[in-house]
Amino acid sequence: MQYTEIMVRYGELSTKGKNRKSFIGRLHGNVTKVLKDFPDLKLQPHRDRLHIKLNGTDAKPVMEKLKRVFGIQTFSLSVKVSKDFNDVKAKAIEMMHEAYEPGKTFKVATKRSDHEYSLDTNQINLQLGDAICDEFPEIQAEMKHPDIKISVEVRQDGIYLSYLTVKGAGGLPVGTAGKAMLMLSGGIDSPVAGYLAMKRGVDIEMVHFFSPPYTSEQALNKAKELTSKLTVYGGNIRFIEVPFAEIQETIKANVPEGYLMTIQRRFMLRLTDLIREQEGGLAIFNGEAVGQVASQTLESMAAINDVTTTPILRPVATMDKTEIIRLAEDIDTFNLSIQPFEDCCTVFAPPAPKTRPSTEKTREFESVLDIDGLIKRSLAGIKMTTIEHGDHFMEKDQDEINDLL
Ligand code: ATP
Ligand code: MG
Repeated sequence: MQYTEIMVRYGELSTKGKNRKSFIGRLHGNVTKVLKDFPDLKLQPHRDRLHIKLNGTDAKPVMEKLKRVFGIQTFSLSVKVSKDFNDVKAKAIEMMHEAYEPGKTFKVATKRSDHEYSLDTNQINLQLGDAICDEFPEIQAEMKHPDIKISVEVRQDGIYLSYLTVKGAGGLPVGTAGKAMLMLSGGIDSPVAGYLAMKRGVDIEMVHFFSPPYTSEQALNKAKELTSKLTVYGGNIRFIEVPFAEIQETIKANVPEGYLMTIQRRFMLRLTDLIREQEGGLAIFNGEAVGQVASQTLESMAAINDVTTTPILRPVATMDKTEIIRLAEDIDTFNLSIQPFEDCCTVFAPPAPKTRPSTEKTREFESVLDIDGLIKRSLAGIKMTTIEHGDHFMEKDQDEINDLL
């Protein structure tokens, strides 16, 4: 069947009263960015639906992309027919031929926004139901849980029929909850934390620390590629790379080994917080999980968190590693995250970091360092880019590499 449009039903935003307009505007913008490779589509945002006119575009790849965009509850493929009821009947029967298999039950459900139309919703349901029963003599109607539901919408410009409804990603459109920084490493956890932040409508900007010459260009590109993977949920993402080598070298030369990790993390957090301020962000997200490694005990988090009062949100804090991995697989970041490029933390990781650092001692050990100077020089070297949906930074992903082996 030649479908003419995809009808998108908004998610939670329907309940958001006067913010509705900005929610719809955001979703429209995000969908536009994610679907930028389909130039013939025409998006028409309305109060309770977003209509995507296909104009001849194959619906399948478009639907694959739509499935991931946050703020969408469900969407349906529909066909527009004229208001001549014979056309409507013919199209409904054609649709049933596509959907029907022996034993399946059906229902017709009509909605009218054009109240001038000659038939009311009951008449349309009955007449189309009869026409379908004539065509498929053994078919059963079922009002509560039909296998096939033919939805009919009578609008001003025509009548729209659909039967395929696909579940969307839910959540809120990215950008409707304001902006925050995500501390993105090349690991498994932080991309998952980013995905969960985006799900609640947060516009995240990636802050990534890298330490050339200790870390490679590939490690940086891996973080960018991970960012690109997350653009499917809501469009472009800012990527901020922060040079970290001088800070790490200085800490290593001047601080007791057990506190290297804690003090490094305090610098990361200070820098992220300054960037957040400059960018107008309201919070910081990271991928910490309680007890996962030495730097993520509650004592450790307290000692690191000591440098700021900005809200720090940890979406994966209470998840088991296996749960995080499952999510990473779902969002297709796992295979990339496990590629073995040295991260700045791995290179400077002490053999035995203190699992219960004291905040007092941390402050004391840190006081020998020229904190302001180190921060200033690092900030002077940051680089910001915008990563768009479809951008790539690595030649092959792990799946392709595995295929070659
Ligand atoms: P994994 O534990 O699988 O390596 P991870 O890299 O996200 O995942 P850690 O290395 O333990 O976890 O770091 C904890 C958190 O600190 C990360 O989730 C991330 O938010 C932040 N972080 C670590 N390294 C960096 C980095 N190079 N740049 C930015 N943030 C970082
Ligand atoms: Mg890591």
